[in-house]
Amino acid sequence: MFKKILIANRGEIALRIQRACREMGIKSVVVYSEADRDAKYVKLADEAVCIGPAPSIKSYLSMPAIIATAEVTDAEAIHPGYGFLSENADFAERVERSGFTFIGPTSENIRMMGDKVSAKQAMIKAGVPCVPGSEGALPDDPKEIIRIARQVGYPVIIKAAGGGGGRGMRVVHTEAALVNAVQMTRTEAGAAFGNPEVYMEKFLENPRHVEIQVLADGHKNAVWLGERDCSMQRRHQKIIEEAPAPGIPRRTIEKVGDRCAAACRKMGYRGAGTFEFLYENGEFYFIEMNTRVQVEHPVTEMVTGIDIVQMQIRIAAGEKLPFTQRNIEMRGHAIECRINAEDPVKFVPSPGRITTWHAPGGPGVRVDSHAYTNYFVPPHYDSMIGKIICHGDTREQALARMRIALSETVIEGIQTNVPLHRELMVDAKFVEGGTSIHYLEGWMAQHKR
Ligand code: ADP
Repeated sequence: MFKKILIANRGEIALRIQRACREMGIKSVVVYSEADRDAKYVKLADEAVCIGPAPSIKSYLSMPAIIATAEVTDAEAIHPGYGFLSENADFAERVERSGFTFIGPTSENIRMMGDKVSAKQAMIKAGVPCVPGSEGALPDDPKEIIRIARQVGYPVIIKAAGGGGGRGMRVVHTEAALVNAVQMTRTEAGAAFGNPEVYMEKFLENPRHVEIQVLADGHKNAVWLGERDCSMQRRHQKIIEEAPAPGIPRRTIEKVGDRCAAACRKMGYRGAGTFEFLYENGEFYFIEMNTRVQVEHPVTEMVTGIDIVQMQIRIAAGEKLPFTQRNIEMRGHAIECRINAEDPVKFVPSPGRITTWHAPGGPGVRVDSHAYTNYFVPPHYDSMIGKIICHGDTREQALARMRIALSETVIEGIQTNVPLHRELMVDAKFVEGGTSIHYLEGWMAQHKR
């Protein structure tokens, strides 16, 4: 096992990884930008190294600064967390070439899944069900594009092969708008992701977002740890996640879960990963694979009892999975609310000093956050400042605990979306379960948001 790991991230996930290391008896080094000097995990760190100024490009995205820090601190492995460099195949390659272990999949795995066109092709080969659409990237010929769209059937969605974070997508309802939309998405994709390739999918009108968590050890062992429903989204950004997904027959999920694990074995996948699907009318449709730990991993940890971050570290150290599919049991239900520093009505970011921070507690309540009273939320990064995760024997109990947890939560000095979560936890449709990916935006329009 590693003696020392460098954590190449910030915020709650840096703290989460630090805790995993500590439990395993591994020393950790955190890197931080000048804006994160006062973060909790920096204060708690075994070692902390400032790697640059606030803008991510000069700190958390600086490969030379991170690798040099690993060298001078004698770290043996680098955990990238999520976001930043976590799905950058070049980074994974440079880490390994510099003699360190990248805690994640191989750079080949990352590269293949980072290109959504090649990812989809790999899934089709592995027998994972995909959204119907173009076979590979769209050609230049407008006539050909029109022909493909007719075959797929309107509405269609044009998506960038290199897209991510909910960007680089355009829905097209009519043939008249098609060619222009493809052109615009291409131009945007070229500018934003350095890859103008786009592909086409049938636009599903009312799906749910349901994803499968996997763990694979690179020794041909792979398991899936149940599913998560992440349909409560605003602008393609998840804000509430839960496990299991309410109301989907277990057999349907088991079928797709087994396919995901089989795909991992086939691809020689190593590490933690998530297969994202849209679920509509009883069918699963693959949309993309994330080759890293997800923000919402705690709901899976709460229902399976498996520590996903520790498993990532053990797999990276070359260990085999300590369990098989048969050993994995789901117990109860878990819900996560992402706490964002933002106006709960207008959604503009609300950075600044937290004058009061009171986190909830009690049975089944987990809070993952690097914030505290007097913490200054820097304006330079994502607005998420923590997550509240509640577990119960049933969904009703998890919901009840979440309502209590949110009522106990006090965050003053900045605005947060806690009031929004309080409202959503008593919303009749959400409480019933099984809302689609469009539900939250519809709800907001109705509530004049
Ligand atoms: P990203 O990598 O940018 O997150 P995804 O492919 O995961 O892109 O899609 C993000 C979101 O966009 C999905 O959760 C869903 O809300 C919507 N979406 C993507 N593809 C489709 C589709 N074929 N039909 C309907 N909605 C889609």
